[in-house]
Amino acid sequence: MSGVAIITEACIGTKDRACVDVCPVQCIYEFDATTGLLTSEEEAGSGEVENTHTANPDSVGIFGDSILYVNTDECTSCTACYQPDVCPVGAIYSEEAVPDGTPRRKYNSSDPTTGNDHTFFIQLSRDVFAD
Ligand code: SF4
Ligand code: SF4
Repeated sequence: MSGVAIITEACIGTKDRACVDVCPVQCIYEFDATTGLLTSEEEAGSGEVENTHTANPDSVGIFGDSILYVNTDECTSCTACYQPDVCPVGAIYSEEAVPDGTPRRKYNSSDPTTGNDHTFFIQLSRDVFAD
């Protein structure tokens, strides 16, 4: 499906979960190292787990719980999380718009990693989910 959301590197170390609260289908996940599961909450920080998936240890081991992950099979491409006023560091792009480091690709104005190739995060988003 076009327009699925991809979270990229600026989330690392920021992870304020603002995107979680605007997602209508709870498809934005956080890794829980104690259980090895990816979990999504109805409301960020509520502790009320909505959905879980098993994590692929090799893929999730790269960034662990320092970043959130969108399940691209569940994302409805509603566009809510990648509106400019949601992510404070502009880390979320639609899949087709993920910048690849070339000058022709447009970066979010608040993305502090402008110029970097973010395309790694497209595959990572898929690989971290083992089921
Ligand atoms: S709003 Fe941005 S920084 Fe915050 S958790 Fe979501 S992707 Fe990460
Ligand atoms: S585009 Fe919509 S459904 Fe997909 S992750 Fe963002 S808020 Fe959730």
